[in-house]
Amino acid sequence: MLVNDQLDRWDRESFFHPSTHLADFARGALPNRVVTGGSGCHIEDREGNRLLDAFAGLYCVNVGYGRPEIAEAIADQARELAYYHAYVGHGTEASITLAKMVMDRAPAHMSKVYFGLSGSDANETNVKLVWYYNNILSRPEKKKIISRWRGYHGSGLMTGSLTGLELFHKKFDLPLAQVLHTEAPYFFRRPDPAMDEAGFVAHCVAELEALIDREGADTIAAFIGEPVLGTGGIVPPPAGYWTAIQDVLARHDILLIADEVVTGFGRLGSMFGSTHYGLKPDLITIAKGLTSAYAPLSGSIVSDKVWAVLERGTDENGPIGHGWTYSAHPIGAAAGVANLRLIDELGLVQAAGETGAYLNAVLRDALAAHPHVGEVRGEGMLAAVDFVADRDKRRFFDASDKVGPRIAAALLEQGVIARAMPQGDILGFAPPFCLSREEADEIAGKTARAVAQVL
Ligand code: PLP
Repeated sequence: MLVNDQLDRWDRESFFHPSTHLADFARGALPNRVVTGGSGCHIEDREGNRLLDAFAGLYCVNVGYGRPEIAEAIADQARELAYYHAYVGHGTEASITLAKMVMDRAPAHMSKVYFGLSGSDANETNVKLVWYYNNILSRPEKKKIISRWRGYHGSGLMTGSLTGLELFHKKFDLPLAQVLHTEAPYFFRRPDPAMDEAGFVAHCVAELEALIDREGADTIAAFIGEPVLGTGGIVPPPAGYWTAIQDVLARHDILLIADEVVTGFGRLGSMFGSTHYGLKPDLITIAKGLTSAYAPLSGSIVSDKVWAVLERGTDENGPIGHGWTYSAHPIGAAAGVANLRLIDELGLVQAAGETGAYLNAVLRDALAAHPHVGEVRGEGMLAAVDFVADRDKRRFFDASDKVGPRIAAALLEQGVIARAMPQGDILGFAPPFCLSREEADEIAGKTARAVAQVL
């Protein structure tokens, strides 16, 4: 066991932390936290703190921490066969079983799943497959991808470009030229407060139509969207949004990529967000909930329509030139199989819907009347509190007010982890599906106290 001082020094000298203010961390202005264990909805750190994790890590530990069934499946797989690749028709019992389990749960019109490692690489795969598809269909100009402002699709070159949050573009020379952004379906922050929900959906549709007209439908390959905007603020879509958007896409022969990295495998109380909102995507991106983050694994699920063209492509061009060393890694696949079994056995999709509705209700009860709370919203086991400087005048805080981070810090003082969303004035909740009603009450009560302290 390392003494604390030595571990601190190594951390600050050697470890490049993601999504971190690097200079603050190096100079010690940002505290570190060494996480040592977890069980159910709680994590423990080196100082002996036991914290209620109301964000399930990065909304990924869906079945909760410390599940022996998954740990044992990983250990058994590592002992039996830690690795073999999946190229040229190779597989393992775990990867083949997981593919079957994913396709049994996916919408009926989907055909096959390609396994990667992260949500970012799965979205990169989906974009490449869309481009390949249009090349095989002899329309090489049809390549641009439309994403939404506030969408989050990863932080690679293409996926960081698709992400519609400035922080992920700034100083990185993103977005790439093939990426276009359109209006976020964010009713609470609609451009004109006089718009009702139907009027706002019509506005989103008109914005999309105008973008397509401007660029030319023959240059646009796909539209990518999360069923519920996640990192951009945890924003469920207004009623009728997805139906109206899909009508536009169908009219212009634009494919739909449903990014279900957060919503896949139960977070909304349905197995997929696509079925929850009636989407019929051509490609689906999955990651986090596939293994509940017990091992890194992601997937790109391809529809029958896209698959038929991919097969034709390989008949014409030879094997598909796409693959990672760690595609369908046996340890990730074993974790995925054990995770999906556990979700079924414990009825965790239904639990996410029911306890999630309870969490949303108690958060609303505890917070909605506060003068600086503009909206409490959510769907399934996702919830957000949107803070406003002046509710009646619809005046919003500046990012520099750091309202979200300050409230998150006050909440952490009481032993609860929520996430200050990157815009700065939204607090997000996405607990594990095994959350109890008592834990939901604790989150709501302590959040109300933290808000009262800060605002
Ligand atoms: N897509 C969505 C909707 C996400 O929320 C995330 C991560 O939070 C990603 C993609 C990227 O996944 P990863 O961080 O595993 O690359």
